[in-house]
Amino acid sequence: MRQYDAFKRQHPDCLLFFRMGDFYELFDEDAVRAHKALGITLTQRTEGIPMAGVPYHSAESYLRRLIQMGIRVAVCDQVQDPREARASGSVIERAVTRVLTPGTLVDETLLDESASNTVAALCFHDAGDAPAGRVGLAIVELSTGAFTLLDCRADQLTDELARRSVCEIIFAEAATTSAPGASTPPRVARLVDALAISSTPRPAWHFRPAEALESLRSHFGVSSLAGFGLTDEDPAVPAAGAVIRYLSEVQALEQSGRATSEGMSSGSAPAFLARPRSLAHLRPPRREDASTFLTLDAVSLRALEVERTLRAARAGTPQLEGSLAGLFLCPPKGARGLRTSMGKRLVQEWLRRPLAERAAIEARHACVAAFVSDTALRDAVDAAIEGVQDVPRIAARMTLGRATPRDLAALGRSVARAAALAAALRDAPSFAHAHASIERARQSLEPLARAIADACVDDPPAHLREGGLIRPGVDPALDEARTIRSDSGRWLADYQARLAQEHDLPSLKVGFNKIFGFFIELPAAQSRRAPAQFTRRQTLKGAERYITPELKQHEDKVLTAEDRALQREQQLFLALCARAAQAAADCAAFADTVAELDVLLAFASRAARRGWTRPAISDEPVLCLRQARHPVLEEILGDRFVPNDCTLGQREQPSDENPAAPLALITGPNMAGKSTYIRMVALCVLLAHAGSFVPAHAATIGITDRIFTRIGADDALHAGQSTFMVEMIETASILHHAGPRSLVILDEIGRGTSTLDGLSLAWAIAEHLAGHTAAPPAPPQPRTLFATHYHELTALEEWLPARARNLHVAVREWEGQVIFLHRILPGRASRSYGIHVARLAGLPKPVVTRAGELLQSLTVSHQDPAGPQPAPTPTARRPAPDGQLSLFREFIEHPAVSELKQLELDTMTPLQAFDALRSLRQRATTTEPHA
Ligand code: ADP
Repeated sequence: MRQYDAFKRQHPDCLLFFRMGDFYELFDEDAVRAHKALGITLTQRTEGIPMAGVPYHSAESYLRRLIQMGIRVAVCDQVQDPREARASGSVIERAVTRVLTPGTLVDETLLDESASNTVAALCFHDAGDAPAGRVGLAIVELSTGAFTLLDCRADQLTDELARRSVCEIIFAEAATTSAPGASTPPRVARLVDALAISSTPRPAWHFRPAEALESLRSHFGVSSLAGFGLTDEDPAVPAAGAVIRYLSEVQALEQSGRATSEGMSSGSAPAFLARPRSLAHLRPPRREDASTFLTLDAVSLRALEVERTLRAARAGTPQLEGSLAGLFLCPPKGARGLRTSMGKRLVQEWLRRPLAERAAIEARHACVAAFVSDTALRDAVDAAIEGVQDVPRIAARMTLGRATPRDLAALGRSVARAAALAAALRDAPSFAHAHASIERARQSLEPLARAIADACVDDPPAHLREGGLIRPGVDPALDEARTIRSDSGRWLADYQARLAQEHDLPSLKVGFNKIFGFFIELPAAQSRRAPAQFTRRQTLKGAERYITPELKQHEDKVLTAEDRALQREQQLFLALCARAAQAAADCAAFADTVAELDVLLAFASRAARRGWTRPAISDEPVLCLRQARHPVLEEILGDRFVPNDCTLGQREQPSDENPAAPLALITGPNMAGKSTYIRMVALCVLLAHAGSFVPAHAATIGITDRIFTRIGADDALHAGQSTFMVEMIETASILHHAGPRSLVILDEIGRGTSTLDGLSLAWAIAEHLAGHTAAPPAPPQPRTLFATHYHELTALEEWLPARARNLHVAVREWEGQVIFLHRILPGRASRSYGIHVARLAGLPKPVVTRAGELLQSLTVSHQDPAGPQPAPTPTARRPAPDGQLSLFREFIEHPAVSELKQLELDTMTPLQAFDALRSLRQRATTTEPHA
C-alpha cells in the first residue's frame, strides 16, 4: 500500500489501475468511482479499504469505457520478474506505463479507426467574457501528429471545438483554488457542459507568451516561428506552447515508467532501448484561416444530421447510419465506401468543415470528375490504395515507442504502394499535385518498404517478445543464435540416447520445463541406479529429476542464445523503426494523399452510382438546383423520392429568366415535405463545398461562407431552457451573423409561443432577412429558405416583391383523402390540411368530424365579428398597400369597431353622437379585443 500511495500521489487526477497478479486493482476513492462508472464489484481489503478490480486480459475494454466517460487513467504495471522479487524477498517493482487522457490516446485498442481524437489548448485573450473576445486554439491529434493553430471569437468557440473532434480541452487555471472546481473559469465550465468533453486545468504560466514561445521553439528546434508562417504575437502561440508542454509531460510520465519496465525485464537497461525523442512525430504547426472554410455551427451540424442522425444524437450513440457521413462510411451493399482508416476520418473532416474557396473547391470537383469519367483511372487508383493501413497512426506509434512487429510490417506493405500509386496518377492532369507529392515521398519510401520486406517475415508475431520477426539469412549473429537453439533438440536427443546406453537406463528421458529448465528424468523405481554425476533437482510423484554439469552447460548456452536472439531481433526492429521515423514526413505526405484520393474516389463512386452532377461554383450569391434530391432519403426511397428545383439569391442583374429573390417562403401542410426540401438544399450546398458532386440534374452554387439552420425543437439538448427560448437564442444568432454569402434555413419559426406572438415574430424575422429593415437601398441578403405554417406570411411576396417569393408543396385531395405529392411549386398553399393529416394519423373519427365543424364555425365567426369570438384561425390577407400592417388587426377586430360600424350617423343628433363617442372611447380604453 505504501508503493500504491506513492504512485497515487504522482497521479492524483487519474484513476490508478494497479497491477496485482492477474488483476488491475483500484483502491479507496478510485475503487468507488470505478465501481460506479463500470459497475464492477466493490469489495474491502483488510482494514476496510474499499477495493475493486478487473482482470488484466480484459482491462482494455474497461479502459475504453472510462476514457469515453472523460475519466483519466494511469496504468501501473509490474515491471519485475515475479521470481526475482520472490527470491529477493522484496515487494515487486512497479511503474506507471501508461497515462491515458481522453484527448491524447495513441493505443490502437482504445481508438476508433474512423474517428479523430484530439486535444485542444485554449487561450482566452480578454479577461472579461465578451462574445467578441479572441480565443487562441492549438489542436493536436497525438495519434497522427497533426497540429493545427487558429483563433476565433469567443462565441464561436463551441462550434470550432464541435467540428474538430476535440475530446479534451486544456486551459489556464484560475488563480483562486480555494474551493474544489474553482480553478475552472465559468466560460470553460460552460463549454464542458455544452460539449460534454473532458477538461484539464494547467498552470497559468504555461500560457504566458514568453514561456509558450520558448517551449515551441525548443520543441521544434528553431529560433523563430516565421518558418511556420507564425509571428511571435500570434494569438494561438500561447495555446500552442501550453499544449506542447502538456503532451510532453504526459509522455514523460509514461516514458519514465516504461524505460524502467523494459530495463527490468531484460535484466539491465540496454543502450539500444534508449527511447526515441517523445513527440518527435508532431508535425510543424499549421496555421488555419477560418475564412477559407464554410462555417457550420454545432446546431447546424446536428440539425442537418451530418455525422449522425438526430435520433442517434439524442440517444448519445455514435451511430453513423442515416447521416450524411454514413452515406460514405456505411455504404449499401455493392457501393464503394472508404477503403482506408485515414479516408474514413478525412471524409468526416471535409463534411464538417467544407471549403469556402472557389479554386480549392473546383480542384476537388475536377478530381471527382476525372474519376467519374475515367473508370480505368478510378480502378487503378482504387487498386493502389486498397489495403493501405493506418500509416499516420502507425508512424506515431513508432515514434512513441509503442509499435509492434505487425505495425512495422503493415507500414512497409503500405508505403510500398507508392510506386503503383504514382504510376496510376502519372497521366491524370487533375491529379498533378497528388502525383508530385507521391513522387517526392517515393524517394525515401521505396527503399524503406524494401528494407522492411527484406528483413521481416510475411506474418510477424503480435509481440516482439515472442521472437520470429526477422527472416533467416538477414543477420548472421541472429542466425547463429537461432541455430544453437534449433540444434538443441538434436543435441538433447543424442544426449538422452548416450546416457541411456552408458548407464543402461532405457527409461531415462531428457526434458525441459519453464521453471526448472532442462532435466533428466528417471522413474522412482530406478532412482537408486542414478549415477553419481546426477544431481537431484526435483522430486515428483513416481519420478526423480536430475541435472548434470554437461546438461547445465548446454542449458546456459541455449538460454543465452535465446536471449541473444531476442535482443538481436529487438535491435533490428528498433533500427527499422528509427529508419521509418526518419521518413516520417514522407509517410505523412503519402498518407495525406492516400486519404484524399480515398475520399475523392468515394465521392466519385457515389456520383456515378446515383447520377450526381458537378456543380458550377459561382462568385455571385446565387443558388440554383434542378431536379435535386435529398442525398440520404434518395438512398432509402430510390425512385420514389420526388426531385425538386430551387432558385434562390440575387443576381447582380436580375432577369425575367431568373426571378430569384433571396428569401423563399415555403408553405404547405404538415408532412408535405417542407423540412425535407430545405434540408435537401442545405445538404446540396454543403456537399458541393466539401468537394463532392451533388444529387441534382444541374446545379449552380454561389460560394457560401456559413450555413445557418433553425430546425425543430430539440428538448434533449437544452434541458432547463424552454424550447421557445432556445429557438429565439438560435434565431438571434442567425440574425446577427448571417451575411450576404450565407445560407439560412428556418423551419417553423415561432411555433413555440402563442399564435399571435409567433406569427408576429416570424413576420419580423422574415422581413429582416429579406432586407426590409435596412435603410434603402437594401444590401444583399443571405439566401434564406423559410418553411412555415403561418399562411399570413405569404403576403410578404407582394409586400417585398423583389426580395421574397412564395413556394408551396403540392397536395391533391382525392376521395376525401390528402395525397402528398412532395412537389415544390411557386405560389402560396391554398389552405391548411391539418384536419386531413389528423385523420391520416388515426385520430378518432368523431374528433375529426367535430374539428371540421369547429373549423367551419371559427372561419365564419372570424369573418363575422358580431359572432362568438374564440381564438381566430389565421387566414391569408393582404397587408394594406400603404405599408401599415393591418394584418393582425383585421382578424382580432376590437368590439368597439363593430359598434362603430353600426352607428347610424344620419339620424343622430350631435349630442347623441357625442355620447356615442364617449361610450366608444370608454370601451376602447377598458376592453380587451376579445372581451
Ligand atoms: P413537413 O416538414 O412538411 O412536415 P417533412 O419534410 O418532414 O414534412 O416530410 C414528411 C415525409 O414525407 C418525410 O418523412 C419523407 O418520407 C416524405 N417526403 C418528403 N419530401 C419528399 C420527397 N421529395 N419525395 C418523397 N418523399 C418525401
